[in-house]
Amino acid sequence: MKVNLAKSSGFCFGVQRALNIALQQASKGNDIYMLGDIVHNENVVKLINKSGIKKTSRLNQRKGKTLLIRAHGASLATFNKARKLGYNIIDATCPMVKEIHKIVLEAEEKGFNIIIIGDKKHDEVRGIAGQLKKKTFIIDGKDKMPISQIKKIKKVAIVVQSTQNIEKVIAILKILRKYIPEVRFYNTICKPTRIKQHEIRCLPLENDAMVIIGSKKSANTKRLYEISKSLNEHTFWVNSKNELKSKYFKGLNSVGVTAGASTPKESIQEITGYLSTI
Ligand code: SF4
Repeated sequence: MKVNLAKSSGFCFGVQRALNIALQQASKGNDIYMLGDIVHNENVVKLINKSGIKKTSRLNQRKGKTLLIRAHGASLATFNKARKLGYNIIDATCPMVKEIHKIVLEAEEKGFNIIIIGDKKHDEVRGIAGQLKKKTFIIDGKDKMPISQIKKIKKVAIVVQSTQNIEKVIAILKILRKYIPEVRFYNTICKPTRIKQHEIRCLPLENDAMVIIGSKKSANTKRLYEISKSLNEHTFWVNSKNELKSKYFKGLNSVGVTAGASTPKESIQEITGYLSTI
């Protein structure tokens, strides 16, 4: 069976960069804390734990300790609080997320309201909203829009969480344009996500089956799985090779493989290695 691996499978640039920074700092013997997991993947979390980096849900007095800001970024309030409590800060925010911060800050200064299209509970979205002085509207679906408040907006700058699905964004944008006279739209879906979204729309149609690799906790892996499943019934979502059986691929000639942005290359190699023996 031929195995066709998506070029964009696995860690995106921002996650790989944050992980490198974290491990490099840990190897210097620094006492490092992180607000949450670096990515939603059990194997990567194990690796981080082994390196001595600690996860914390809140910032306490920790003079001389280091706080590592993850690729998603964080709000200004988090930075300020950490400094006040005596942390040294290492900022591993992805440069593409930083770019979104810059856009919203400049737009707010010019008097625009800000709308973020994205998942309200996601740390990246909270971090973007947390750069601003004024209230920000966060819209995560076209059915949940605060229309009466949107109607009062005269001019708006709209940005997008870097991993959003472009089709969903376009549907929301269409509604916003109906109600707001001046709209400046910034498509801030990052390049690695765009490539991933393109590949996941092609590979399932070009192969007899699809294997999506990643943790069941990973939202972006789930999105890849759902798109793939809608295009190819023979789609399997696994986190390790033990979850696959050769009978799933009986009589098939090719399998496409991709992996979520939080999946390490070791998991991808293990599974593609196994598939190529079928
Ligand atoms: S998904 Fe895009 S913006 Fe987010 S960390 Fe990865 S490269 Fe950066």
